[in-house]
Amino acid sequence: MSRSYDAWIPLPKAELHVHIEGTLEPEQALAFAARNGVELPYADTEELRKAGQFSDLQSFLDLYYELMAGLRTERDFEELADAYLARAAAQGVRHAEIFFDPQAHLARGVDMGTVMEGLWRALGRSESVHGVSTQLIMCFLRDESADSAMRTLDAARPYLDRITGVGLDSAEVGHPPGRFREVYAAAAARGLRRVAHAGEEGPPRTSPRRSTCSAPSGSTTD
Ligand SMILES: [Zn+2]
Repeated sequence: MSRSYDAWIPLPKAELHVHIEGTLEPEQALAFAARNGVELPYADTEELRKAGQFSDLQSFLDLYYELMAGLRTERDFEELADAYLARAAAQGVRHAEIFFDPQAHLARGVDMGTVMEGLWRALGRSESVHGVSTQLIMCFLRDESADSAMRTLDAARPYLDRITGVGLDSAEVGHPPGRFREVYAAAAARGLRRVAHAGEEGPPRTSPRRSTCSAPSGSTTD
């Protein structure tokens, strides 16, 4: 029996793979950049949509990091998350496990507090406003160093009660996950669950072994 796409919308769903920075819509990206005085090399949303026709993971990541430049304030992160949750709710999502990439923001001079407070304003009211429960997963960039990941874990210390687990994302090829073993152990010692990305770009062997990466119930890797 075939069903139209619309027939599936009311069914309750769990979103288990979403990068909050990747939910930035062209309109929002340009608006954030404009109000923060950040220049993006796109004249309008049409040009930006064309740039969003990716050929591989790296071309996606290039645009992903470029558009992050417009995310500067708590308000930006709050509006980003709120817009995603509203769209997700409209598609029947009732639970979302949301990745975020603090290293990419810290490197741009946006501190952990700005990211966390902004996201939390939206996530903290999500169940009452959108009917969507949430969990937050802090990803480390696997194309950055393990030291950088550890510093990021340390920077998140004041916010650990808002973070369910840690993850691993970004470019996979040439960046095996084994060097993050100590960071994952430190995350476990701080009561965080551990997941990791695998298979978006590299072969299955780029995924951590089960011994170094345990997934929380209801969560998933790629
Ligand atoms: Zn992903």
